[in-house]
This record gives sequence, structure tokens and C-alpha cells, in this order.
Amino acid sequence: MNLELIKRIVRRILKFIKVPYFKLQQLYFKVVTNKIECNICHYKANKFNSDNWHLNCTCPHCSSEVRQRLFIASLSHLDNFSYDKIISNKKILHFAPEASVGMLIKSKAKEYKTADFFAEGYSYNNIDFNIDISDMKTIKNESFDCVIACDVLEHVTNHISGIREVIRVLNKGGFGIFTVPQKDNLKVTFEDFSITDKKEREKVFGQFDHLRIFGDDFIDMLQDAGFEVTAVNESFFAKDIADLNVLFPPILSKHPLATNYRKVFFCKKL
Ligand SMILES: [Zn+2]
Repeated sequence: MNLELIKRIVRRILKFIKVPYFKLQQLYFKVVTNKIECNICHYKANKFNSDNWHLNCTCPHCSSEVRQRLFIASLSHLDNFSYDKIISNKKILHFAPEASVGMLIKSKAKEYKTADFFAEGYSYNNIDFNIDISDMKTIKNESFDCVIACDVLEHVTNHISGIREVIRVLNKGGFGIFTVPQKDNLKVTFEDFSITDKKEREKVFGQFDHLRIFGDDFIDMLQDAGFEVTAVNESFFAKDIADLNVLFPPILSKHPLATNYRKVFFCKKL
């Protein structure tokens, strides 16, 4: 029997036992206390999976990372940014929506629209608007109560226009919700448009299609555009919730471009 055939058989067996294994594992954690729980899909375990960037931070069931769980924890536990205040019965525009988070938001919203700017190498399902966040011509002023754009602005040529466009399409009192990759301890956002080679971009910015790596000045960009900003991190939550939902990396990443100190920026249009 050749090696390829053995590999194929092993892959088939793993695929076959994956679902029953998952169900059995979740049954086990109904009896035995779990150390962690995904606040999006409610996967329970003693630790999350690891990837090249972070150890024990990725939910193997819905692929959530710290940033998504921090966002959902805010809606679930913080009075100022609760589902009731921001999502329930509101008109929502969600850029680059992650399926698991999108489903939760959609289930509570009055109207839920999705948007993305279609690019080569990605697949897009159930997207209502193929638009650039920095030039949303087809969307009228003051059309939405909430615009969610998590890890979007690092892909956009003019991120400042992106922030201004979000303000334009929001109703007064509405919220823009942003996350961006921010290199630890980097004060000023770094970009260099002369770097166009995909490998070089990956080396400098962390991903082949990222145009910048944000610094601590991201909050200034939001405030300068006119938003009232609250940057939510794990310290906004009781320790048992932060630990259970893994709202902060349990082990700090040593990757030179990693964002260990994730924040969700809740931005109110005054
Ligand atoms: Zn999950």
C-alpha cells in the first residue's frame, strides 16, 4: 500500500469520526467542568486551538478569535454597548461578516445587510453590497443605525475615507464598530505604499493584502473624524468571564506583528 493511499484512508477516518467526537466531547463537558467556552457557538473545552500567531485562542468549532469574542462579550455584558442599545430592532450594515457573528447579529436586528469589496482569492456568500467602505456611493446618508467593520480598514487604500464614510451612512446616535490589527507597543500606524510584493507585504504588515499595520493612534483617527470612542478590552469584564471566554491571549504571542492587546472600538456618531 503506498503512502498516499494510507494518508487518504486516515483523512477519511478522521472526517468520519470528527462529528461524533465533537458531540461526545461536548457531552463530557456537561458533566465535567470546562475551563473555557466560546461565547458565540458555546463550544466547551479546557483550551482553544492554536495557530501561527496565537496559542490557545481559536475556537475549533466556529473559528472565533479573541476579537470576535470580545465584541460579543461587549454586546452581552456592557450596558452602554448592549444588544438592546446597538443591535436589537436596528438597521445594521456588516462589512466582511464572519458567519458565526453575523448569524447572531442578524437574529436580533430589524434589518441586516452585508457588504464586502470583492477581491481575487476570496469567496463571497450572501453579500448584499459589493462596495468599497471608503467610497459607498450606492448608500445614502444616514441609512443605518450600526456599521460593523472588523479587521477591514487594514485592507483599504484610504482608511480615513473609510471612517468618514461610516459616519456619513450612520444615523445620528448610531454606532460604528471597528477592530484593526495593532502591533503591540507601536505608537504610530505604519504604511508604505511602495511595498507591493505580496511576500514583502506579508513580512512587513502581517498578511499579503494588508496595506498597513495600525498603532496606538488608531483611536485618534476615529476621534478626529468626529466619533465619540470607547475602546473595549478584557478589563471591562469580570475576570471569570474574561478567562472563560478567553477575551485575552492566555499566553502572549511572540510573533513580532501580533496584536496581543485586542480592542473593540465602539464609536458613537454624535
Ligand atoms: Zn466558537
